[in-house]
Amino acid sequence: MKRTCFFGFLSIILTMSFIGSNIYSAHKVAIREAYADTTGLVRFLAMDIERMFYGVEQMFVGLDNLLINNDKTHLNGINDVLLRLKTNNSYLMDLLIVAPSGEIVNWSRSEAPPDITERDYLRYHLDHKNSAFFIGKPQLSKVHNQRWFFGFSKAERDQYGRLKRILVAIIDIDHLYGRYRELDLPEDMIITISSEDGTIYTRIPGHEQVVGQNFPGGTKLLCNLKKSKIFHGASPINGERLFASLERVGDTSMIAAVSINEDNFFADWRRHSLLMGGFGLVVGAILFTLSILTVRSQQEQFRIQQQLQQQATTDPLTGIANRRYALEQAALEIKRNQRTGTPLSVVMMDIDHFKKVNDTYGHHVGDQVLMEVAQTCRSHCRESDLVSRFGGEEFLILLPSTNLNGAQTHAEKIRQAIEDLSFPTAEGNVSVTASFGVSQWQGETKIDRVVSRADAALYQAKHDGRNCVRRQNNA
Ligand code: GH3
Ligand code: MG
Ligand code: MG
Repeated sequence: MKRTCFFGFLSIILTMSFIGSNIYSAHKVAIREAYADTTGLVRFLAMDIERMFYGVEQMFVGLDNLLINNDKTHLNGINDVLLRLKTNNSYLMDLLIVAPSGEIVNWSRSEAPPDITERDYLRYHLDHKNSAFFIGKPQLSKVHNQRWFFGFSKAERDQYGRLKRILVAIIDIDHLYGRYRELDLPEDMIITISSEDGTIYTRIPGHEQVVGQNFPGGTKLLCNLKKSKIFHGASPINGERLFASLERVGDTSMIAAVSINEDNFFADWRRHSLLMGGFGLVVGAILFTLSILTVRSQQEQFRIQQQLQQQATTDPLTGIANRRYALEQAALEIKRNQRTGTPLSVVMMDIDHFKKVNDTYGHHVGDQVLMEVAQTCRSHCRESDLVSRFGGEEFLILLPSTNLNGAQTHAEKIRQAIEDLSFPTAEGNVSVTASFGVSQWQGETKIDRVVSRADAALYQAKHDGRNCVRRQNNA
């Protein structure tokens, strides 16, 4: 039964762990697929923007050489170069050459240049005494009908670090947006180009709603970003649960991200998990029910077995052992004693004139007498002794570790106790007596011989007037 419970629970646990590990590995596969889906694209984006910056850097080198080798009389020629560069590179909205005073000296258009005093690229280069490239924040153009741009600029300084000029590429954000919108993206994929402090350059979809806005929620994550990285959590923009691959554009402050809505990319996995979980529950419930049913049937079988054994070994009227059981136990006892040599005695007891009791007071009084006599024998015996009903009103008592003298004394006590019993009947109280024959095992292999000797002694007791104890002849 314990084994059934154990195997029942073991199979439930094994099924559950199989399903658990299946769900877990399906989860890992979903993440791996999401990673594979997003990393390729995010690398392309980062490299695409980096290539654009590299192109501008090359333009700046060329322009600087041109400016060093030209005097101020060729100003119009430089304007033409700027215009040509702008026309040939569709991502350029304008190209500017700015004097240390903050005024535009040349630009890629013919009309009067706008005031750029407040632009971040100018402020940066006037405030920082280095020659590093600067990537500005998204801003609305005054010249180009409120289109979004950002400045990519570099300060040229002389050998003493004095500012000679600032070269500025005005990068058309709408161009970037249009370029990436044309990519054939899966429906649930999101592209975001932002600065590391969370300002959005473009986002597909939703560009118009978020361009130029700052979402500092992502700052902490993005600032730690050294190489490509995975982000798994709530979007800083709208709280939507996302799986994202991120990549820094070169060594700039710009970050490219490609994300997938978590609900979508886990949808298959969820369906799979639900299916597996449901399957697991059904299998678990079946196994559980089977275990319970098996345990119950085993319990029932055990109970019936016990009952049958009880019936086979017990006398139904008195509740003491029956003849068959007594003889089996006696045979076992003999086997044990053959090795150890321990004595063993047998008492055969028969109620005197029992027929008369039945005839005079009725069978039910006879039954009552049998029951009480059996109990009296039992209460006068040790735990290790075995009292049995051998026949109608005949009892056999097995006394292990007892010799003939001991058995005789013991039988005498029981005889006395039975004589002292009193049975109330309609005709007044009745008492009974019993006769006893005792014998001792003498090394025989069969118990019958020992019983026969006790029987003979009992016969002698009857012959000697009943209500007495007699021992075997040859002892
Ligand atoms: P003795 O002193 O020589 O042993 O005489 P007795 O009457 O006891 O012996 P006998 O063998 O003549 O009678 C035994 C009686 O026991 C006969 C039978 O009706 C009765 N008896 C046997 N089994 C039961 C029983 O289960 N219940 C009752 N009430 N009587 C039983
Ligand atoms: Mg008899
Ligand atoms: Mg009798």
